Amino acid sequence: MNAELVFVGTELLLGEILNTNAQYLSQQLAQLGVDVHHQVVVGDNAERLRAVLQQALGRADVVIACGGLGPTDDDLTREVAAAVTGRPLQLDQGLLRDLEAWFAVRGRRMTENNRRQCMVPAGATVLPNDRGTAPGLIIPAEGGKAVVLLPGPPGELQPMFAHHVVPYLTARNGGRPLRLVTRTLRFVGIGESALADRLKDLLAGQSDPTLATYSKTGEVHLRLATRAAGQEEGLARIAPVEAEIRARLGRYLYGVDDEDLAAVVGRLLTERGLTVATAESCTGGLVAKRITDVAGSSAYFRMAFVTYAAEAKVQFLGVPEALIAAHGVVSEPVARAMAQGALERAGVDVAVATTGVAGPGGGTPETPVGTVCFGLAARGAGALSPGVWAETVRLYGDREEVRERAAVHALALVRRYLLGLVP
Ligand code: AMP
Ligand code: MG
Repeated sequence: MNAELVFVGTELLLGEILNTNAQYLSQQLAQLGVDVHHQVVVGDNAERLRAVLQQALGRADVVIACGGLGPTDDDLTREVAAAVTGRPLQLDQGLLRDLEAWFAVRGRRMTENNRRQCMVPAGATVLPNDRGTAPGLIIPAEGGKAVVLLPGPPGELQPMFAHHVVPYLTARNGGRPLRLVTRTLRFVGIGESALADRLKDLLAGQSDPTLATYSKTGEVHLRLATRAAGQEEGLARIAPVEAEIRARLGRYLYGVDDEDLAAVVGRLLTERGLTVATAESCTGGLVAKRITDVAGSSAYFRMAFVTYAAEAKVQFLGVPEALIAAHGVVSEPVARAMAQGALERAGVDVAVATTGVAGPGGGTPETPVGTVCFGLAARGAGALSPGVWAETVRLYGDREEVRERAAVHALALVRRYLLGLVP
């Protein structure tokens, strides 16, 4: 079954209000397993609305239109939908009584134009509005199709959809409870195109579950989705595909669904009984911020050195001045020395350092904007070897993006070390 969404309102076309009903309805329908192939926004214009509804009925099983059900002259949806489905409007006496009572209770006089809200296309089902005066409607159309009309205000639309449209759609689908079961695999240290390349065959041959990649700042997410009667059935269908992906890209896969990278690093540190500190230049404390965003991080996070000036790196981390003079402040030797200094001075088990050019100025041909050097120093524990390492990455984006991506990369480096993937 598929649905088309039609949003009616000139204010939407002018950008005066955000089409939040589009997001709400799309998410709800995806959950129900109803496909949405098209969404259309149209102004308060009878001719164009008629064309849009006709087109929608030509290609979708159910058309859901929202907005334009009110009492004023620019509210045309009810009349146009009645005309398109060829169902004459009739005054619904029950609705009229309810509406009169609604006004009486509030001590307000019902005006003549309010009666329009009591007009119902022949054969249509009325959906009660618990939060306002405009009722919703389900209007049967040719070929077993239907047009569902919902009020525009989200506070009225949402309860009406949840209480009256969901049961209708479920019944239409033979009462089979539908739901979308998804699992998001979260990767770091690999780009979207490289990931897609490694999964080329799976992405090309996919049908059930479907696979979709999304790039996030410094990360890539892969969503596996299937339709099933329940969570368990869906996850069972996803499991073999996930296992294949883990076999190929497990070293980059840090978490699932809404697991956060800093929280994963925190869990790995806790499991190993290790502590961490940061020595930050271009990230200005962002790595420490991400680490301390996690509740309970005081158990493993000791401190951050935000050493922005070269002299601060010398004074507080003991980076040799000669090293900076010889290699420049954005260099692997300096990143190593920063990490080593933080390890010793903070007395922790693992220290991570960042030094780079966040831009927009400060780039040179050898170290262009986006160049970031990372240092990692560790005392070693169990199977994890002691040592000091460095790596250089060229990050893209504006200043904010470079800094955010650098913070993600630093956390990813600590994760790799804790999993025995460094060096
Ligand atoms: P209407 O039923 O067209 O008179 O819409 C009444 C009010 O509902 C509008 O003034 C908006 O505040 C709100 N509204 C209508 N359509 C939407 C939409 N697609 N998304 C969010 N709010 C909407
Ligand atoms: Mg309107």
